[in-house]
Amino acid sequence: MSIFSRIAAGEIPSYKVAADDRHFAFLDINPMAPGHTLVIPRREVDYLFDLTPQEYADLWAFAREVALKLKKAVPCKRVGVAVLGMEVPHAHIHLVPLQSESDMDFRAPKLSLPAEEMERIASAIASA
Ligand code: AMP
Repeated sequence: MSIFSRIAAGEIPSYKVAADDRHFAFLDINPMAPGHTLVIPRREVDYLFDLTPQEYADLWAFAREVALKLKKAVPCKRVGVAVLGMEVPHAHIHLVPLQSESDMDFRAPKLSLPAEEMERIASAIASA
């Protein structure tokens, strides 16, 4: 079971922002910017493009809903989107609140926010 499957199953704690029966969204533990969110399908598939066409479309539709909430909860110019999957072999979409292009630099040092701040952000997105 991937670490993200275990998060979606509630076996490993996360800062949950949204979920339905087939998808789960939670804060990235080492965000590029406050509010950096990961969106996953509950079904464990490593490579995004190995999802079925329907699963792929549904995942992006769910990510869109999360991005709309994220933009309401975390003021930003745009919500940036990326898919890498170089570290965790469970398909996921990165949603990153952007003030400028430099907020989405995967090589820059990541943030480490206090737990209370992560909880506050997750709850603000969840209720947006
Ligand atoms: P990548 O697979 O290259 O798209 O990167 C995986 C992302 O997952 C990184 O941004 C990590 O900070 C994030 N990550 C890894 N483990 C966890 C975790 N337990 N909870 C939240 N985010 C995580």
